[in-house]
Amino acid sequence: MPSRVEFREDRCKGCLLCTEVCPTGIIQQSSRFNQKGYKVVEITAEMMSECKGCAFCAMMCPDFVINVFKSESEKGGAA
Ligand code: SF4
Ligand code: SF4
Repeated sequence: MPSRVEFREDRCKGCLLCTEVCPTGIIQQSSRFNQKGYKVVEITAEMMSECKGCAFCAMMCPDFVINVFKSESEKGGAA
């Protein structure tokens, strides 16, 4: 399984901080608004394969929107 990210869209405030820290630049503003009226971010299905599982986005997000699921190779440790 490659690394991937999930967004809890209902919590997103559309601040775009996550888009700035992602080293691969795969997080982008979507055209959707959540229930609070904020324009949420997304990673398209095609772009998700570029995710490195670094979790910079999750660390930067002030609203705990982002869950990162790291691939086995990104987790490191004994092979
Ligand atoms: S985990 Fe890293 S590579 Fe993946 S979306 Fe977040 S910042 Fe980008
Ligand atoms: S940093 Fe968090 S609140 Fe801001 S746009 Fe990204 S996911 Fe949404």
